[in-house]
Amino acid sequence: MNKKIEKILYLPNPRGFCAGVERAINIVELSLEKYGPPIYVRHEIVHNPWVVKDLENKGVIFVDELNDIPKDARVIFSAHGVSSSVKEEAKEKKMSYIDATCPLVLKVHIEAKRHFENGAHIFLIGHKGHPEVDGTMGQIPSQSITLIENINDIKRLNISEFNKVALITQTTLSVDDTAKLIRALKKKFPTLIEPPREDICYATTNRQAAVKSIAKKCDAIYVIGGENSSNSIRLVEVASQSGCKNTFLISEIKSINWDEMKHFKTIGLTASASAPEILVDEFLSLFKNKFQVKIEKSVIADENISFKIPRELRE
Ligand code: SF4
Repeated sequence: MNKKIEKILYLPNPRGFCAGVERAINIVELSLEKYGPPIYVRHEIVHNPWVVKDLENKGVIFVDELNDIPKDARVIFSAHGVSSSVKEEAKEKKMSYIDATCPLVLKVHIEAKRHFENGAHIFLIGHKGHPEVDGTMGQIPSQSITLIENINDIKRLNISEFNKVALITQTTLSVDDTAKLIRALKKKFPTLIEPPREDICYATTNRQAAVKSIAKKCDAIYVIGGENSSNSIRLVEVASQSGCKNTFLISEIKSINWDEMKHFKTIGLTASASAPEILVDEFLSLFKNKFQVKIEKSVIADENISFKIPRELRE
């Protein structure tokens, strides 16, 4: 006789590490191998506590600013990117640095500089205080770029103050929320110059589409990801906006409330672009120990993107 199925677990793909995160972690690990510890990293290399702890155990020291690093040390810049002034500071201090900025963030930096050189004022849709936003804003003089976080920021813009205007965005935003802001900006500024290709990256877009595809079927969705991670927080929001009533951001598997889970029959599980698959495996193994489970896998997009690591680490 078949055992009764207590839970259905929806496991959509793509989920977990993106190409930019894999590259950044690879850069740190290869630097450790080539140069030996300690290796300094300015800011968390990616926003995930498991990844950060794992690298700390291997000899990485994470710092907030270059002043926290000895003068002759080697430093890596995180996947989120840094402003031009940070690179200049490193050069002045004669530090050797390796830039682990995701190439898709660098693409946005290049767009910002190009618009600035072409005399456009730039609207950046993003979240204040996020290191990627700080890094992007720091590519050009501050008076040439305005951060747009919400619809009120757009309402406050005075049309007569701007002549030529261009748009760039953070790479890890909600696709739907950003589309609304872009529509409002275009209504106010019909000549707004848009990015040739979306700035929200493929990994963000695919992970949001994947979680959206299961949201209505799930009593609860668990998103594995760091609490300070933009793409993780957006996945939770997208799950909830797409029809799932109970959504949880899980930064550590030990923080899961398994008793609460007993009330949910259909459960979704995903992981953000900075969360390692090992945490999904850990969740699954505990989950299968506690419940009788039927797993429903789905794939909404194939990903075969990878980024080259810097030459000095390839040699
Ligand atoms: S989420 Fe996108 S922009 Fe960020 S590191 Fe991954 S691929 Fe790059």
